[in-house]
Amino acid sequence: MQPKLICQSCSMPIDNIKDRGTEKDGTYSSEYCKYCYQNGAFVNPDIRVEDMKSFIEKKMQEMKLPQGVVQQSLSILPHLKRWKNNKQG
Ligand SMILES: [Zn+2]
Repeated sequence: MQPKLICQSCSMPIDNIKDRGTEKDGTYSSEYCKYCYQNGAFVNPDIRVEDMKSFIEKKMQEMKLPQGVVQQSLSILPHLKRWKNNKQG
């Protein structure tokens, strides 16, 4: 059993390998989802953590997820690999 994978950019759970992003050589990324990462690069390389937060919030509200789930995802976001080493400002 592998631990549940979450995207290290947007915190989305990746249940299906087809939802993973792809590397340059076409293999699946073990860290990012297909919405964030394709062909070895981020889809939105200039997005800031604040932008990602509002994107996720909107997306999860569209999916009608409970507010607790939304808040939890937002709170882990800055600790994900993509953001935690990012010096803001
Ligand atoms: Zn993602």
